[in-house]
Amino acid sequence: MTTPEDNLVDRFEATVNPGLARIQRFMGLTAVEAGGFGAEVWDETGQRYLDLGGGYGVFVHGYRHPRIVAAAVRQLEQLPLSSRVLLNRPMVALAEELRALTPGDLQYSFFCNSGAEAVEAALKFARAATGRTHFVAAEGAFHGKTFGALSVSGRRLYREPFEPLLPGVRHVPFGSVEALEAAVGPETAAVVLEPIQGEGGVIVPPPGYLAAARRICDRAGALLIVDEVQTGMGRTGTLFAVEQEEVVPDLMTLAKGLGGGVVPIGAVVGRPGAFRFFEEAPLLHTSTFGGNPLAAAVAREALRVMVEEDLPGQARLKGAWLAGQLDQLARQYPDIIREVRGRGLMLGLELVTAGHAGALMSEMFARHVLAVYTLNNERVIRFMPPLVITEQQLATVVERLADALAAVRAMDLEE
Ligand code: PLP
Repeated sequence: MTTPEDNLVDRFEATVNPGLARIQRFMGLTAVEAGGFGAEVWDETGQRYLDLGGGYGVFVHGYRHPRIVAAAVRQLEQLPLSSRVLLNRPMVALAEELRALTPGDLQYSFFCNSGAEAVEAALKFARAATGRTHFVAAEGAFHGKTFGALSVSGRRLYREPFEPLLPGVRHVPFGSVEALEAAVGPETAAVVLEPIQGEGGVIVPPPGYLAAARRICDRAGALLIVDEVQTGMGRTGTLFAVEQEEVVPDLMTLAKGLGGGVVPIGAVVGRPGAFRFFEEAPLLHTSTFGGNPLAAAVAREALRVMVEEDLPGQARLKGAWLAGQLDQLARQYPDIIREVRGRGLMLGLELVTAGHAGALMSEMFARHVLAVYTLNNERVIRFMPPLVITEQQLATVVERLADALAAVRAMDLEE
């Protein structure tokens, strides 16, 4: 009998991505999503799942936060897209909110529609602001898959088929101040870093790393671009991860959670010097849909909800509890779990082999927990649930994870 799920994966295979369709089938992921609320998502047959991957970090506010949906509906009924000739009030209001909430003298915002586009813009702004051409980025970094963003990303698998990429990009080991110091020079337009590498496998650098990067950039006259696409919006326990090192970047990129789990939006927030080139050339970089009233009104509400519901504080508390539980499981299953790391509700479980990660994800899916690995490190499963996940739901996740680990160990013993 053909179920609706079988049907959709076949149609996906025929019209979207045949290779990915095969992986979905292999992983047993053929259910079709139908709705979601908070940390839960359900399929067309009514089966419910807890979303531990949080849509790759998008759902910081959870699915369909009522206040954010209401803001979207209001704007949708009024004016969703802009004439781009008259002034756009929601966009300016969002830029003002970002100016107020971001650290230091970050003041101007450029809006676009995704994380990669935000990184792309930041790279161009750094060249325009400094008149220099080179970039220093980190091994294992992930900044998106457009040409510029890919050029500063670290994984060969995604890069090599598209070379030659941007010239003048150097990759240094993430977390090494000495390597950064040696790589930054008079031609460096910017250093590009994530505060915690997300897709690299939830890699937390040593304390003081970002602050050292700031000093190195200042000394060399280079800009510091901090990519907060994944760490931003409360995920690591503060609104932006840079706050924990009291670092003010020249350019900060945002996307994912900025859209409140309701719309796509990206942004680059910059200090005055990094945006000065717009005075001479206001149309040097543009995006038709960037800062559209619908996305802007939603993002502004998403920021307000974040502050009023103290989502960063929730990430801190819930993250500390979850990390403690994961540490306990790591002690129980040293044959499967190598390490638990991360900050706030950005946690990673590094497994002994990629095979263990695949098996554990499958066992978790079977127990209705959606878990995914990080794009640049297949041994690491991410724990990035919506920050609104309830304590009860987190406890359920831990119970199901414990069961799944027992099942993986049983498989290991059988082999
Ligand atoms: N930067 C970081 C740190 C990311 O984690 C991602 C996506 O995972 C991106 C940029 C790219 O964002 P997008 O997929 O919206 O282009």
